[in-house]
Amino acid sequence: MAVLEMSPTTGVVVTGGGSGIGRACARALAEVGRPVSLWDLNGEGAAEAAASISTDCGVATHSLGLDVTDGAAVADAVAAAREALGSIGGLVHAAGIVTAMDIDHLTEEIWDAVLGVNLRAEVFVAKALLGDLRSHQGSAIVGIGSIMSVVGNATIPSYTSSKHGVVGLTKSLANHLGPDGIRVNAVCPGYIETAMTAPMMADPPSKAACVDKSPLGRVGTPEDIAKAVRFLMSDEAGFVTGTSLIVDGGVTSHD
Ligand code: NAD
Repeated sequence: MAVLEMSPTTGVVVTGGGSGIGRACARALAEVGRPVSLWDLNGEGAAEAAASISTDCGVATHSLGLDVTDGAAVADAVAAAREALGSIGGLVHAAGIVTAMDIDHLTEEIWDAVLGVNLRAEVFVAKALLGDLRSHQGSAIVGIGSIMSVVGNATIPSYTSSKHGVVGLTKSLANHLGPDGIRVNAVCPGYIETAMTAPMMADPPSKAACVDKSPLGRVGTPEDIAKAVRFLMSDEAGFVTGTSLIVDGGVTSHD
């Protein structure tokens, strides 16, 4: 009860809100009374999620189909979200892509695309929201990293670099925006069942390998991540900034 009362009531923009972790984050925030604007390349998925969240949680919701790497579209989206929600005091950047391509096969296009969505978009969506975030007490940003923020994987150098970048960006923005009362953190998920990991989870030996790596003996759900994001977005985390919280069922806790 006290936790719920301590959440700010300002609206939150959730990129990648049409699927998986972003969708679960939007729902978790709406459950504590926060209006949410879901931005996703998949506009239909975002609209469907926004409608069901609004029905179930009774908060204002809004959705847009857009590419978060498109600066002009983002500027329009900020205005539309502010109008729909009444205020914006938070950003969760959960839009993300992964392409398996080791350095022998890597192209400049894939590198730029992955870094563009996973890392660059967080900076420029946040920049477009700065006026709104500075206008409200308790504003916060949460980026979504990965266990690839702290370890490496040979097949995904672009993804690994983008997710290490999210951790660095988190620290830099936290330093600059702290004096304005804006907290900036990241959540680094382990193996979570979503559309992104569906091919791996559909292959029993691959899924079993993910389960075996966790001392808790399971893979994660989008809700496991959303609860950590909701904590970092709330006043319960009022003295937490510049940090990255690994939520991986212990996958990176051992060799
Ligand atoms: P997902 O594919 O279910 O969701 C990602 C969403 O991002 C999709 O709806 C997609 O349409 C959207 N998106 C992609 N590019 C976009 C763009 N240019 N503009 C707007 N929207 C765009 O995957 P997910 O697992 O929910 O991933 C969410 C985040 O979590 C990603 O950053 C991912 O890297 C990260 N993550 C996932 C896992 C996992 O195991 N699933 C683990 C660690 C980190």
